[in-house]
Amino acid sequence: MQLGALSRLALALARAVSALRGRLDALCWSLAPLSLSLLLSLPLPGWRRVSAPGPSAAAGHRRQREQEQERDGAAPTPTSVNYHFTRQCNYKCGFCFHTAKTSFVLPLEEAKRGLAMLKAAGMQKINFSGGEPFLQDRGEFVGKLVQFCKRDLKLPSVSIVSNGSMIREWWFKKYGEYLDILAISCDSFDEEVNVLIGRGQGKKNHVENLHKLRQWCRDYAVAFKINSVINRFNVEEDMNEQIKALNPVRWKVFQCLLIEGENCGEDGLRDAEKFLISDDDFERFLDRHKDVSCLVPESNQKMRDSYLILDEYMRFLNCTNGRKEPSKSILDVGVEAAIQFSGFDEKMFLKRGGKYVWSKTDMKLDW
Ligand code: SF4
Repeated sequence: MQLGALSRLALALARAVSALRGRLDALCWSLAPLSLSLLLSLPLPGWRRVSAPGPSAAAGHRRQREQEQERDGAAPTPTSVNYHFTRQCNYKCGFCFHTAKTSFVLPLEEAKRGLAMLKAAGMQKINFSGGEPFLQDRGEFVGKLVQFCKRDLKLPSVSIVSNGSMIREWWFKKYGEYLDILAISCDSFDEEVNVLIGRGQGKKNHVENLHKLRQWCRDYAVAFKINSVINRFNVEEDMNEQIKALNPVRWKVFQCLLIEGENCGEDGLRDAEKFLISDDDFERFLDRHKDVSCLVPESNQKMRDSYLILDEYMRFLNCTNGRKEPSKSILDVGVEAAIQFSGFDEKMFLKRGGKYVWSKTDMKLDW
């Protein structure tokens, strides 16, 4: 009994120290970079700084932490996070499931503070998404976040999902070195289908733009990825040739998904029912493209609870009930308290291949 009480006390103390350190990390990012390293090097009560662990020691610590969490049902680690910092978009895709319900965007320094908190809680990969991430300050906002995450937080993987329409070459020159992966959404290589879906703006050709972006990714050494949502208008299409020619590192193929309050239901801004396809139709599409080695399929079931989604207020969105229910903001209650309400299924995340080679330095790409 006494031993049990002692070990519980030791566990509680370790958690308190770890939480204190997480808060200190987060606070530091809002201070000058110089004071940051000084603060991080200060010893905390009960915590002794040893030399930084090497990669294998770090992996060992991570595994140990995962085992501990499994034992006491603690919060999952936010290994890979999708931060939808804006809901605004210049496209009007009919099935969009993250719609323009607000125009709020956090101030840059607050967003950085939240990202530092996530890093302290174990984040290794950040993906910036929207809305359209390049709308805010014409790409400067996302550029500064990308730079911060790679240069200052030293995250192994920093990526963006974009419709591509607002990206210009200057952006690659200024920020390309900090970006591991750029994913561009493209659902069809037939421009008429893109127009039907709503992926387009005026006379700009989405497919031509895709090719231009592919070339810039080569020129500026950014791994190129394509995301496609399979729906009633593209489900019969054969994309084999075009995808092979573009040669992305990954082709993520999603099944069109309904989320109440977003693209269906009374308070939804879209009505995506007419875009839905059956599981069998989705399987037929996958089968038609089985020779594309970079294809990563994602059915509705896999999508719903295997992503950690942060909204524009840095609240985790829980999609397990078919709508997006927000937690409190990590900026107010911390990562550990907020993530308990995320509905995140860590096992499904691993099962769907959520962890992969995501640093461009490890991809050994022939740019
Ligand atoms: S480009 Fe993305 S965020 Fe914009 S409307 Fe289409 S699906 Fe929604």
